[in-house]
Amino acid sequence: MKTKIGLLFFISIQLVLQTNAQPERWQQAIKYQIDVKMDVEKHQFIGTERIEYINNSPDTLKKIFMHLYWNAFQPNSSMDVRSRELGKTVIRQDRNGNNVLDWDGRVTNRISTLQPNEIGYQTVTSVTIAGKKQIIKEHETILEIILDKPILPKSKVVMNIAFNAQVPKQIRRSGRDNAEGVKYSMSQWYPKVVEYDYQGWNANPYIAREFYGVWGSYDVKITIDKSYSIAATGVLQNPNTIGFGYSTPGLRVLPPKGNTLTWNFKGDSIHDFVWAADPDYTHISKRVRKDLELHVFYKSKNPQSDSAWNNVLWAAEKVLPYIEKRFGKYPYPQYSFIQGGDGGMEYAMATLLKGPGLGTVFHEWMHSWYQQILGTNESLFAWMDEGFTSYAENEVMHFYNNNFAMQSPWTSTATKAALKRNMEVDKDDLPFQQADNYAGYFALAKSPFEEPMTQHADHFNTNFGYSLAAYSKGSVFINQLGYIVGDAMRDKILLSYYNQWKFKHPNANDFVRVAEKESGLALQWYKEYMVYTTKTIDYALGNINVDTTTGNAMLLLKRVGKMPMPIDVEITYKDGSKELHYIPLNLMYGEKPVENKLNRTTHEAWRWTHPEYNFAISRKVGEIKSIEIDATQRMADVNRSNNKLVIPD
Ligand SMILES: [Zn+2]
Repeated sequence: MKTKIGLLFFISIQLVLQTNAQPERWQQAIKYQIDVKMDVEKHQFIGTERIEYINNSPDTLKKIFMHLYWNAFQPNSSMDVRSRELGKTVIRQDRNGNNVLDWDGRVTNRISTLQPNEIGYQTVTSVTIAGKKQIIKEHETILEIILDKPILPKSKVVMNIAFNAQVPKQIRRSGRDNAEGVKYSMSQWYPKVVEYDYQGWNANPYIAREFYGVWGSYDVKITIDKSYSIAATGVLQNPNTIGFGYSTPGLRVLPPKGNTLTWNFKGDSIHDFVWAADPDYTHISKRVRKDLELHVFYKSKNPQSDSAWNNVLWAAEKVLPYIEKRFGKYPYPQYSFIQGGDGGMEYAMATLLKGPGLGTVFHEWMHSWYQQILGTNESLFAWMDEGFTSYAENEVMHFYNNNFAMQSPWTSTATKAALKRNMEVDKDDLPFQQADNYAGYFALAKSPFEEPMTQHADHFNTNFGYSLAAYSKGSVFINQLGYIVGDAMRDKILLSYYNQWKFKHPNANDFVRVAEKESGLALQWYKEYMVYTTKTIDYALGNINVDTTTGNAMLLLKRVGKMPMPIDVEITYKDGSKELHYIPLNLMYGEKPVENKLNRTTHEAWRWTHPEYNFAISRKVGEIKSIEIDATQRMADVNRSNNKLVIPD
């Protein structure tokens, strides 16, 4: 008997090793079967969950924690008080001298004014395992389940849960009757098991941000008044009894008996599930390839807005090959762009969008890569989801504007004219697609509100400090990596990161280790400075001297800021020729590949301890027209005024 078990164990370990690049990093697994019945008069629903929870950890679990997010939408909740507290901080003065406060404009003090029939709640009435009722304790947005029998390592438990909920008036992300009149935006709507990982239970009370979940499969049944159309994560299992744009074209869908319809959606290899419902959704879709169907759901408003929603579908199809080439394959059979929520928010195989603006559309879609597929803990590494996504959004937008915007049948003549003007202006000086992210980071670095990028997202002192660290500095982290290792290598790193960490929970170190292995360069210093400190980069040009033995020019460079970097210096001569002088940082133990056609001279590495660096060139001072540190502006130098020297004729 024992030998047989030993053999099975051996075989299963072998399988894990073959399919998993990080065999030492276990992760939990889950299967949800959720069944809810919605009352559209009361905005309440009752539901059951059957949850199969697989403990792959080496630990014995005596408790399970679950999220009850909607309990945040009640006066005096942690989210309410925290929102009002942050809103008191003065971030700056506007042009008229008025104080700009640190509110999240969508929440402000709105939770405090909710009436009992407008609040949100999720109440778990019972949890049973093997027929036995478990002890439960509600801690506002977290439910603690004290198990009668602990879950042993490598074992499975099945929980049956009964719950009921009230859909809050739309405040943040989820809720009823959003500003655009979408009836139900249903995110964070079900009791959801908290992720248990190598850091233990991530039982974060819901304050504002953000999400992290167990990888698994969802089988969701929603019963709702038959006048409602539903958009959701996953693939609809019963399209031909539903209709609403889902059924086989040409097939007559028979009207159901009774007042309700039951919709059944299924999704695999995901860690969240969203749905939205409205009686007036326009639903358009396209099968863009054999294994992928794209959907758009919107409320028809006027011809311009309707065109813009149609353009979402058109543009999404056009940019997909570019996205996959740069960031990895989209692995799911479906994706839905759904009007709902309060801005743009990413979920599995879907997003809730306020409007059809392509910037937000591409941003939320790119979260399928940096949040859904690469499931970082967004609370702890917000910059790895928002920063990487903002970076990708700008790259995709740039690609779309340069290749497709002018061809779209849905782009208005006015927009086309504006694009044409932009292209003419930028013909010589190509627009730097990440410029807004650098500007955001510089504003942060110069403010008194900067905190290190890696800390729990809810614990930043200000919304301002969180947002610019996560979105702007996070995207600068990626773009600037191209300056250090070369853009082509950075792109290779992103693909390798995708391939090694898809459907897992990578952290900052995991990403940097991929970057080190791909590039062959040591990058721990980059992680330490960028992720864990607020130290800034400032390099300056010093005097130009004459080398007394050769008579050639000697250049002096100064490190003014505390963060060290490798340095590119571009020299333009009066005869029109250009040279690149490259000074690696000693901590890298190597150099980046030659990136462009410029003649490159690589100098001895600059030791990080040394504030100054001298190097000689092979031409005379009088031949120099201009000298510039990092002409590509990929290095996030907070003071660029001392980076360029133009020698007057
Ligand atoms: Zn985002």
